[in-house]
Amino acid sequence: MSDNGFVVGVDIGGTKTTVALLDERDGILCERVEPTSRADFDESQQGSQRILNQVISLINKVCDVSGIALSDVSGIGNGVAGTIDFKSGTVIFSPNLPFRNFGFKDAMYQHFKIPIFLDNDANVAVWGEKCFGAGRNASEIVGVTIGTGIGGGLIINDKIYRGAVGCAAEIGHMIIDRNGPRCGCGNYGCFEAMAAGSAIAKKARAVIAKKPDALILKMAGGNIDKVNGESLVLAAAEGDELALGVLREIGEIIGVAFTSLVNIFNPEVIIVGGGVAETGDLILNFAEDIVRNYAIKPNSEIVKIVKAELGNKAGFMGAASLIRKEIESYND
Ligand SMILES: [Zn+2]
Repeated sequence: MSDNGFVVGVDIGGTKTTVALLDERDGILCERVEPTSRADFDESQQGSQRILNQVISLINKVCDVSGIALSDVSGIGNGVAGTIDFKSGTVIFSPNLPFRNFGFKDAMYQHFKIPIFLDNDANVAVWGEKCFGAGRNASEIVGVTIGTGIGGGLIINDKIYRGAVGCAAEIGHMIIDRNGPRCGCGNYGCFEAMAAGSAIAKKARAVIAKKPDALILKMAGGNIDKVNGESLVLAAAEGDELALGVLREIGEIIGVAFTSLVNIFNPEVIIVGGGVAETGDLILNFAEDIVRNYAIKPNSEIVKIVKAELGNKAGFMGAASLIRKEIESYND
């Protein structure tokens, strides 16, 4: 059990920011979610400061609501969607937030004067799953979040693996097909461009274009703009072959990516989060078939492919646990 009292976990995403106060047993005393402050989106220090102010106000709020004084909080752990220079505590770049070389950790320390931890959102989320969710008891973990985009986190030998400059685990930009569709990063055929939410919708729409009376369209209320993974899963549940075909295609791409990850990292577990994991078992079953058949043995036999358990709590839980760990290391 931890004995360093209350800690705060913060998860700043491109759309939502969550802040929670945790007690000494990692119980959530209070949790607050708000849309991330993005008014006057500019790439300036002002935009960054605005987000920081929002986080500070949320931290004050969760303490107030819980009746806990800020002076009783031992530290604040933060996960931020973006590229982080872990050593200096700087957010170098964030595609959906105004942070550009923003000294986040220092700015937060200047305000609170207590230990601050900062890492990227995917790393803290996989750590959260390791400590409290689907990765319990595992030391070698690959975390993959498949939603609008694809994010990744690696735990090797019980530690977050960050790489030479803190940018490891860009699993979404692993190139699967050099002749594939263009990715947001500028390359072609990245895993993200081939299997994330928008790729799934695009494949479904291509099917509908050929067969306008497809059940997939009906499941989206007849509105092609609303066709997504969920419409596919609903149609597939009715036994619709076209929908099953698209889900199989996506599942197989995910399986190909996982096969490489299993070969390279020999993980005990691949934890899958995000919208794709929430659409039921079909896609992941197709992916698992590929891994079992194509990854090298014994890697392919021991790996478990499981869904994330903590949903949007993984980020702040992981961030809180990481600041707690850091404080404990000062006390050793
Ligand atoms: Zn890419």
